[in-house]
Amino acid sequence: MLARLLLLLTALTLPAIASPNPEWTANHAPFRIAGNLYYVGSNDLAAYLITTPQGNILINSNLATSPPQIQHNIEALGFRFADTKILLNGQSHYDHIAGMAEIQRLTHAKVEVMDADVPDTESGGRTDFYFYNDPTGFFTPVKVDHILHDGEQVKLGGTTLTAHLTPGHTKGCTTWTMQVTESGRTYNVVILGGVSANAPNNFIDDPRYPTEARDFIKTFQILHSLPCDIFLGAHGLYFNLKEKYPRLKPGSPNPFVDPAGYKAYIDEREQTFRTELAKQTAARHK
Ligand SMILES: [Zn+2]
Repeated sequence: MLARLLLLLTALTLPAIASPNPEWTANHAPFRIAGNLYYVGSNDLAAYLITTPQGNILINSNLATSPPQIQHNIEALGFRFADTKILLNGQSHYDHIAGMAEIQRLTHAKVEVMDADVPDTESGGRTDFYFYNDPTGFFTPVKVDHILHDGEQVKLGGTTLTAHLTPGHTKGCTTWTMQVTESGRTYNVVILGGVSANAPNNFIDDPRYPTEARDFIKTFQILHSLPCDIFLGAHGLYFNLKEKYPRLKPGSPNPFVDPAGYKAYIDEREQTFRTELAKQTAARHK
């Protein structure tokens, strides 16, 4: 009886992230999204390769177990893993960054991280306002080679990426923008870092992140202002990878060109945030 009770208690107190979502690990076939931009992630944890004549840029390194998968996908596309010159990320949570130290070690790529995400990156998640007391959110610390600031450009081999500070999900959450050219047309690409509030979460006066609500409000303003043709993000779920990928066919319109989907996603996330913020604000004034 006691053993069963203990088992039940253990099951109830285990954090939800202890069993990773199978979609986080199941490999997705790597593919070219448009121009020099490729998808090299899993079914849900997105990783992007941007190829240039001077080497390649990788956005997101995913779980600690993901580096072999990412390497396999890069090589399956005909590129060299060792040509990865710069490592970037969208947010410093373990599901997007835990593989970074290993990819840095294997490729000697330069790690460039937004200023406000540097402490979490270099502490392996131990300073994160949300995961600080949850070891399942910890990862191998990553040595940051270059600290980015809001609006900074990362340039390699004729490609320019712009880092937009879009805080809230993490303090240095980063949305990347770039342009790609495909069949003579130029497209604005937005790769969302993340815009969901980590629930249950105190937006208003969490001593570990007192500016969270203000940051989210500013982030939604920034995201609304970004020109977007091709909508991507740190999770496939953000931009509906599962539904769009099968529609990617030569001669058909590129399903990842989805400005309306981008706007609808940002609107929906903002509405969800504002509803929760109103609830928390009302609870404070009871
Ligand atoms: Zn996250």
